[in-house]
Amino acid sequence: MTRMVDNHLRLVKIEQTEVAVVGGGIMGAMTAAHLAEMGAKVTLYDPHPMGTGPGASIDTGRSFRVHYGEDRALVSMAVRSRGLWKQWEQKLGRPLLHETGKLLLEEQGDRHAFESWKTLRQMGLRADRLSHGMVSQEWPGMKAGAATVDRMGGVLDPQVILGALHVWLKQQDVSFRGEALDVGPKAVTDGQGQRQFDAVVLTAGAWSRRWADVPMEVTRQELVYFDASALGARLDRLPVFSHMESGFYAIPTAADGRIKVANHHPGKAGHPDGDDRKVSPEFEQRARAFLAAHLPELKDAAVLRQYVCFYSGTADRDFILDRTDSGMVIGAGFSGHGFKFAPLIGRLLAQQALGLTPEVDIERFGLKRPSLRGVSTKLAV
Ligand SMILES: Cc1cc2nc3c(=O)[nH]c(=O)nc-3n(C[C@H](O)[C@H](O)[C@H](O)COP(=O)(O)OP(=O)(O)OC[C@H]3O[C@@H](n4cnc5c(N)ncnc54)[C@H](O)[C@@H]3O)c2cc1C
Repeated sequence: MTRMVDNHLRLVKIEQTEVAVVGGGIMGAMTAAHLAEMGAKVTLYDPHPMGTGPGASIDTGRSFRVHYGEDRALVSMAVRSRGLWKQWEQKLGRPLLHETGKLLLEEQGDRHAFESWKTLRQMGLRADRLSHGMVSQEWPGMKAGAATVDRMGGVLDPQVILGALHVWLKQQDVSFRGEALDVGPKAVTDGQGQRQFDAVVLTAGAWSRRWADVPMEVTRQELVYFDASALGARLDRLPVFSHMESGFYAIPTAADGRIKVANHHPGKAGHPDGDDRKVSPEFEQRARAFLAAHLPELKDAAVLRQYVCFYSGTADRDFILDRTDSGMVIGAGFSGHGFKFAPLIGRLLAQQALGLTPEVDIERFGLKRPSLRGVSTKLAV
């Protein structure tokens, strides 16, 4: 009886809770969505309509994978997030994760790929090691030596996801406002004045440092989109593939007949405001060489688009999910690999904003951890 009363009181309390989310990229959108589902009144601030603008969530393809070397905590989070993507497919009424698998290309003695495979198998997850020749048997036209395949991997389409979430959030009466001019732990100011909230969540990506001391660096990442229509129906089945040492990766997007090639290692410092989005001829050449090495029939493929996107990277490449000293909830520093975790991160930030215990231990993502101030580590592709 007491528990029933407690739960009832908690629900009433959440329904009366007003939360502002500042930044409507994928993290803000998913935080708003989970807050709305939990019953809170949500106001979402962003200068751009959802799914547009210069933020990091705007693209046609993001890699999903659960392999994270020996990092079992991140593997578990990725698996949990995959389950949530599946639930969002039901709620939004459309497929979101195109399940192609994710291929980690190996070179002789490549420890990371081996450890990834071993960890996944020990955790009872679907992964295989393919030796020379097996890659082209499974994906005709592909060339690779040995590889580890993460069978739970695939491709997420940010444009589709953010478009569908926008419609859904409106149906849940989430209120959309423009650019935040000032953000505090309990108040947000925009062109129409200041509004008070019970909680404020900051998910403004590269712009988060305006209102919080976030130890992260914003770097330019060059992207080249090649015409892959020559692959015909094979493109739809092609896995995301990446190579740990060089950092290069390729994401096939059958919906638009393209393959995006980019490099996961942090590029030069930059910022989406005002930074030019030109890709260097040298990078295009390296991207083409990577593509040609693994899909030789695309060696002369036309370049359909070039773009520069910006990673918000922390020194240890882990995320920041915490409260600032002043009490603002912050989700930042997603280091070029956050998209896959977005439904889980949205839930964790929503739980923090509502004063609930996060369902996953988020201590390692704290703002004060020493490794945030350390020497930058490489990313695991
Ligand atoms: C090139 C590239 C490739 C990537 N590839 C992958 C991948 O394959 N797999 C993967 O899992 N992850 C990937 N990531 C990472 C992932 O895309 C990001 O971690 C994620 O999109 C970050 O989302 P966000 O919502 O934190 O930031 P953003 O999407 O940048 O959103 C921040 C929002 O804040 C808004 N904002 C700015 N100023 C204000 C203001 N004053 N008031 C209100 N709002 C404001 C912006 O308009 C923007 O919409 C990649 C990232 C990049 C850049």
